[in-house]
Amino acid sequence: ITSDFCVDHLCVAFPNSMKSANVLSDINVVFRHGIAAAVIGESGCGKSVLVLALLGLLPKYASVHGHIFYNSFDVLSVPFAIIQSNLSKHWGIIPQSPSDALNPIRKIKKQFDDIGKNASRGNFSVEELCDSLTSLGLSDIEKILQSYPHELSGGMLQRILFAMAVCCEPEWVFADEPTKGLDEQSRQQVSHNLLHLKTKKTQSMILITHDLPLTEEICEVVVVMYAGEIMEITNSVYTNGLHPYTRALIAALPINGFNPIPDGPVKNGSSRQCRFAPHCAYASKQCKHSHPNLYSVDDMHKVRCFLYA
Ligand code: SF4
Ligand code: MG
Repeated sequence: ITSDFCVDHLCVAFPNSMKSANVLSDINVVFRHGIAAAVIGESGCGKSVLVLALLGLLPKYASVHGHIFYNSFDVLSVPFAIIQSNLSKHWGIIPQSPSDALNPIRKIKKQFDDIGKNASRGNFSVEELCDSLTSLGLSDIEKILQSYPHELSGGMLQRILFAMAVCCEPEWVFADEPTKGLDEQSRQQVSHNLLHLKTKKTQSMILITHDLPLTEEICEVVVVMYAGEIMEITNSVYTNGLHPYTRALIAALPINGFNPIPDGPVKNGSSRQCRFAPHCAYASKQCKHSHPNLYSVDDMHKVRCFLYA
């Protein structure tokens, strides 16, 4: 029994949506306990759907094949009640939008206690919460605990959500686009807080993000997704990114002159070609007629590209 997430041949499709093609096709990856991983890729690449699948939160109408093993359970086939009662208390989730994530008519202290009750550990003492919130750079904690969300700034709310995500000492922390839309100063604060959680609370994290520098600061593993497939698994996109799509993401960073990826993402192209082929400067005849596997470059590094077959 391990607390790794082992994703085995996961395919997800939303049959009733306009796009009948797979949203995720044949995803195979292990998120190891004790390791911080990032899932990156453009909007619509399937990264959010992958994380919903890990958490057992795919909508009922989704058509799902494959397995996700976690602690001797298959998250995809256990009843949701089991996920709620047994599994989800091991998981701390930092939602994307602080203002939507908190109950507007409940004081902060009460909302911490609600989380404690759900995890059957009971109310938190003010001292415990002071410790945790102070370490995230907040002061005047007793006043904060007696406030309603609207009385606090966005930055304060986000730190409160960080503290809420880890207050029951979860085995895993999930963060969805934690730096999206933030100015540089707030971005650095979030990055600092994530690093703090990682060193003080739990090493095991999955970040969904567009923020490549953040993955470099926080994560030991980066999973690069494109059009519903994993294109590369590497320890660093900057120093070890090999896939032409990974290179294109790096070239698209403002610091590198903002070279856009031509024509944007190709969604769910023909399964008989490389999905990146229409945009790839290295595409050969083979790339347009056959589909590359995820080839191992070394133990920790896989690339879905014929150049590394
Ligand atoms: Fe480019 Fe071919 Fe590699 Fe696809 S398989 S990324 S088209 S070189
Ligand atoms: Mg998304």
